[in-house]
Amino acid sequence: MNVLAGAVGLIAHDLTATLGWGHARAQAEARDALGNRMQFPLDGLAWEQLDPATRQEVLGDLVVEAVEDLQQRLHDTFVDTTWPACPRHRQHPRWLGEGDRGGTAWCCPGDDAAIAPLGHCRRGRLTPLLTEAVWPP
Ligand SMILES: [Zn+2]
Repeated sequence: MNVLAGAVGLIAHDLTATLGWGHARAQAEARDALGNRMQFPLDGLAWEQLDPATRQEVLGDLVVEAVEDLQQRLHDTFVDTTWPACPRHRQHPRWLGEGDRGGTAWCCPGDDAAIAPLGHCRRGRLTPLLTEAVWPP
């Protein structure tokens, strides 16, 4: 289950970087989002019969779904209606997709481009011009 611990860290990082949340709040929020998605599929014997590669795949999909849940909730509750905002355009959120080098990345739907891997949102919500200047590297 190291994938899950890793995912909590990645999601919490992005929450902290973009919303300025404290470590504890970000971790709790990430754990909640993942917990809600993990319960159902990890119950039962079927899991025991999956090979390791399939397990990784299942977990990867669950992480994406959990982040999408979290994103939806932040939008619906007006915590941040564009979380995480696209650094190129700002008025719309990024969505999860496939990264340039594989893995899960935050993508701009307008440019159809990967902006940053999950867990690598840049700090700098308050200094947007600087953020834009540093990505892509
Ligand atoms: Zn964009």
